[in-house]
Amino acid sequence: MSGPLQLTFVTSAVDAKTLPNSPAEVAVVGRSNVGKSSLINALANHKQLARVSKTPGRTQLINLFSMPNGSTLVDLPGYGYAEAPVAVVAKWQALLKQYMAGRQTLRRAFVLIDTRHGVKDVDEEILTLLDKSAVTFQVVMTKADKVNAATREANIAQVQAALKKHPAAYPEIVLTSSEKGEGIESLRAIIAGLE
Ligand code: GDP
Repeated sequence: MSGPLQLTFVTSAVDAKTLPNSPAEVAVVGRSNVGKSSLINALANHKQLARVSKTPGRTQLINLFSMPNGSTLVDLPGYGYAEAPVAVVAKWQALLKQYMAGRQTLRRAFVLIDTRHGVKDVDEEILTLLDKSAVTFQVVMTKADKVNAATREANIAQVQAALKKHPAAYPEIVLTSSEKGEGIESLRAIIAGLE
């Protein structure tokens, strides 16, 4: 049992140029509203560490959290909000590219996928970008409590099939519910193991 991740908020940044370096880091990415803030809060067992968004697509900041051993969790802004203007999407992709390019100490990116929806086209773009950047990524499926068993199984299969096409994908998926706590302990252990 690894217990809650001891995440301490360090700083927010508007772009990746000014981010402090750390000996090891993991990044968390996903579509706006996928449940990223809720997941970070659940990992830390802290209700308001990362702000749960009232308006999808509002947060456009990179948030950094440190862990006791000196490694960092990087919370990247949500992408692909349906109503985001093209310019916002382009800005987001530029930010991600800039971030990926400079992170030698990045151990793994966790890509969040909503269990209700599976991998969408916009997620595919990000997965391809991670392949190109040679960043190992692992899919974390969120909001597992929101679907019935049949939809869950179908969408897990859809994600697994999608991952087969991505050389940088770690094959094992983590299924989570921040609401019910499912999978949270497993994900904590994975992150702790990467430190
Ligand atoms: P973000 O935009 O990716 O940071 O997403 P948020 O964490 O703000 O979550 C978006 C919405 O989904 C909020 O209304 C959350 O309460 C809800 N949500 C997030 N995770 C879960 C979950 O595991 N189960 C359920 N039922 N709702 C969730």
